[in-house]
Amino acid sequence: MKTALITGGTKGIGKAIAFAFLQRGYEVVLNYDSDEPAALAAQEEFNIMGYCPLLLRADVSDERQVAEMLGEFFSIYGRLDVLVNNAGISRVNIIQNTTAEEWDKIFGVNIRGAFLCCREAVDKMIGRGGSIINIASIWGEVGASCEVAYSASKGALIAFTKALAKELAPSKIRVNCVSPGVINTEMNSHLSSAEMDDLVDRIPLGRLGRPEDVADACVFLAETPYVTGEILSVGGGFAK
Ligand code: NAD
Repeated sequence: MKTALITGGTKGIGKAIAFAFLQRGYEVVLNYDSDEPAALAAQEEFNIMGYCPLLLRADVSDERQVAEMLGEFFSIYGRLDVLVNNAGISRVNIIQNTTAEEWDKIFGVNIRGAFLCCREAVDKMIGRGGSIINIASIWGEVGASCEVAYSASKGALIAFTKALAKELAPSKIRVNCVSPGVINTEMNSHLSSAEMDDLVDRIPLGRLGRPEDVADACVFLAETPYVTGEILSVGGGFAK
């Protein structure tokens, strides 16, 4: 049976991605960082629907924890077909107020985390092949005012994806990005309803994205064998 590891897989977009792969018969592992009760609640929700994903705890920015997580993953399943680097954090701040610690924290999760997970995974994927999907952001493509650190980290993730796709193509490991626009999750809960309405007005398809929209794109990339190094925008035409 095929396997998938989704980082930050117990809520928001990650949870929808996990559900999409569970529905397609994959063995799915949900990585989570620290919120054990929320992780158990997500697992229970899937159990009620008849699915049995495994939970593995690791802060993706922590080298040791990531190595242990992937070690445990491979000792259980022996193979990894799809790695989705979804875990991410954002902060809204003008550059003058952005501390070096905040910058490092954002880069730690959004790009170092993806690097560490890929590094630990690829040795075991070589030979069998597989698919790595990094969840970037439209802001990594076009830049967002007051989100310089976040935009830069996602831009780095896009460059990382393009480079790694070339490096791993001879090993039959495909590496792609999904680049969401504005998706209706807790990450955007700081926005007022007026700000949300304004954003919707700027989305050509006329609605916010749903986590399932991003999940559909992940399934497409995982199961389309001749696509690598691509940045697939899922934003209803936003900011294009
Ligand atoms: P969310 O805040 O609901 O979920 C983020 C997930 O990442 C959570 O499960 C969180 O626990 C996990 N996480 C954070 N730090 C972690 C760490 N150190 N180790 C392991 N897990 C960690 O946000 P979301 O909207 O579901 O975002 C998912 C991804 O999509 C992120 O990478 C985000 O940048 C990206 N994205 C979101 C939007 C949007 O509009 N919501 C747009 C573009 C890109």
